Formats: sequence, C-alpha cells, structure tokens
Amino acid sequence: TEEQLRQAQKMEAVGQLTGGLAHDFNNLLAGISGSLELMSTRIDQGRLADVDRYMAAAQGAAKRAAALTHRLLAFSRRQTLAPKGTDVNVLVEGMVDLIRRTVGPSVQVDTAGLAGLWPALVDPSQLENALLNLCINARDAMPDGGRIIIETANRRIASPAAERQDMPAGEYLSLSVSDTGTGMTPEVIAKAFDPFFTTKPLGQGTGLGLSMIYGFAKQSGGQVRIHSEVGQGTTVTLYLPHHRGGAERDEALPDGSPMPVA
Ligand code: ADP
Repeated sequence: TEEQLRQAQKMEAVGQLTGGLAHDFNNLLAGISGSLELMSTRIDQGRLADVDRYMAAAQGAAKRAAALTHRLLAFSRRQTLAPKGTDVNVLVEGMVDLIRRTVGPSVQVDTAGLAGLWPALVDPSQLENALLNLCINARDAMPDGGRIIIETANRRIASPAAERQDMPAGEYLSLSVSDTGTGMTPEVIAKAFDPFFTTKPLGQGTGLGLSMIYGFAKQSGGQVRIHSEVGQGTTVTLYLPHHRGGAERDEALPDGSPMPVA
C-alpha cells in the first residue's frame, strides 16, 4: 500500500538522518567553541560590544544541538524491543510486496518459507525493519539487477557450534536473505557490523544498517551471520530464538527487557 511504501522511504531516510546527525552535531559544536573563543578574545581586548552577539550565536547553536539530540533519542527509543511470539513466514509474506517495490523491477524477489516453521520470540516491527534493510543492501550489491531469496528454516544449534557462533546452544529459526551481487571481501565482512562502516559513496551509505541489525539480533537472544563470496553473492542469516508458547499472542516481556514505548 501507499502507507507501506512511505514507511519504507521513511526508514531509509531515518538511516541517513542518524548518520547525518553526528556530522551536524559536530558542526554545531565547532560553532559554539568558535563563538566562545571570539568572546574570550573580545573580553580580553575590552571590546564588550560584540560579546552579546557571540553569546547569542553560541546559545543558538547549543539549542540546535539539543534539538538534534532529542531527535536521536526519539529514534533510539523506537528501537526498544517488544518481543512476542511471531510467525516469521507470515511476516515475510506480508513484506514481499513492499520489498519488491523498494528494490525495483531489475531485482527478482523469491521466498522459500519452511512449512512447520517454529514461532520466534521477537519484536515483529524490528524484524520487518531488519528484513527491509537486508533487502536494500542486497539491491545495492546488484546494480545490474539479480535475485534475492528470502528463506526460513528451523535450526537446532548444539554446543560446540553454538560457542563457535557466539550464541547459546538451543533451538532457533533462521531468516536468511541471499543475493547474487558483488559479494564481500573478508576485510569488509570483518568490519561490516561496525557502526558507520560503509563502502558506499558519501551520502548513500550510513554504515548503520548492519550494526543496528546486529544489536537487534543480540538483544533478541539470537545472532546474525554473513556468508559471502566476491563475485558470487552474499547471504546474511538472522538466528531468532524458538518461542515455545506459539505465535500471535502478546507475551510478557522477559526479565530485564525495557518497557516498549507506544
Ligand atoms: P550501508 O548499507 O549504509 O553501507 P551497512 O551496515 O548496512 O551500511 O553495510 C555495511 C557495508 O557492508 C556496506 O557498505 C557494504 O560494503 C557491505 N554489505 C552489506 N550488505 C551487503 C551485501 N548484501 N552485499 C555486498 N556487500 C554488502
């Protein structure tokens, strides 16, 4: 729907916004510190007439910086998780139209949902954000078009493998997004989850997508993994904890998780 498309565009914009915020904030700090320096020079010179002006400039910049911080806080509060039993296949099917429209006609989008998929204990709207972000990354890796496959599976991860993957042993369901794009070098994979790491041109990448997805996966008690080969393509797999209470019901929050903000 139109509403969903606008939501997707908003999410891309939010990503750009967060990256841009740090930059704007720095500029304002430079302005404040410059004004203070000028003020101090003028006071030393006994030229008090200009001091009011510089003070007003510093105050104005400080106010704008405070407004930026508020925007950032409002954004991060929206990230608060409200996990509940979720049928991930249903969630994926609900997103496919939006994903197709977002990636455009040169990219084919296919789904392979496992029948009998376990329900996940996860915040569904955060999972939707993560999925859309992964598909946008996949599209960006396929400038000449290609194919995205979104696949779900049940996974039992036993002890040695679990430790190796830095996750508790147990039952998970996986949601993977594969593309036929450029792939990633081992160096890029090593840095991909770092906040602000991007290989995209200035103004296009914020370097926040995968770091936010990593934070979301870990907070959910899961994990995220990248398999990629240069020239072949990339698969990013989210592991989400199996929810034993079934799907589609509101759940009590696990201990220690913050209250969701409406
Ligand atoms: P951004 O997309 O803004 O650059 P991300 O954190 O989402 O930020 O991704 C970081 C980097 O990881 C990207 O700049 C790109 O180099 C690489 N990357 C992510 N997803 C893919 C993919 N599907 N194929 C190839 N490279 C990818």
